[in-house]
Amino acid sequence: MLRIHALSCGSLEFDRSLFFPAEAPGARMVIPVSSFLIVHPQGKLLFDTGIHCDALVGPVARLGKRIASYFALRSRAGEDVVSQIASLGLRPDDIRYVVNSHFHFDHCGCNASFPRAQFLVQREELSAARAEPARYDKKDWDLPLEYCEVEGDHDVFGDGSVVLLPTPGHTPGHQSLWIRAGNAQFVLTGDACYTREHLEKTILPMNTFDAAQMMESMGKLRSLRDRLGATLLYGHDAEQWSALPRGNKPLF
Ligand SMILES: [Zn+2]
Ligand SMILES: [Zn+2]
Repeated sequence: MLRIHALSCGSLEFDRSLFFPAEAPGARMVIPVSSFLIVHPQGKLLFDTGIHCDALVGPVARLGKRIASYFALRSRAGEDVVSQIASLGLRPDDIRYVVNSHFHFDHCGCNASFPRAQFLVQREELSAARAEPARYDKKDWDLPLEYCEVEGDHDVFGDGSVVLLPTPGHTPGHQSLWIRAGNAQFVLTGDACYTREHLEKTILPMNTFDAAQMMESMGKLRSLRDRLGATLLYGHDAEQWSALPRGNKPLF
């Protein structure tokens, strides 16, 4: 039987207008950063690896001046993916696959901690990171890791239970994860949709690579929710996150 664990990888505080560009700057918001562990009979998979621990003690050194000027870390000790899986009795070598939704600092910051895993990333995302390094941070992703380039939908275990879905727009090669567990379905949206409010009101955040693509990807997520009854687990939704079972209490 498949299990899903939501893992807390800290919090970020920043100006609300980054998420909701129609709002006047000046109001702050705090959002969760997450990773998800999928325990499948054929192996364990992590969806995203959160922010690197060094960012807590030296944000400018790790994240660079620009990112550190936008985002303040509000993480507590132990809110990093390696500590989180350790609390479930797991070590990095127990993870067979890591899926990076995309290569932003809050989604792949701890990739280096999983040298034995296979990293499943959309080819478009890898090409974009190679072609436009300024959009990403090489410290996060450009590492001696086994990157497996995926093009389009990809059924990870070959049984339809864990499927990568391209949801570009936020970045060129963004992907989400569709999970079918018994009669339940979940989609880990990543940053294809930050919060439920973005989906309900069709709001595109400030940091959007391609608006038309992102609208299309949000439509795809909406249809998985409305037509198939999938539960969407949004990338950075504080309200949803506060109600989710987390850590060693599986959400499924
Ligand atoms: Zn992002
Ligand atoms: Zn993010």
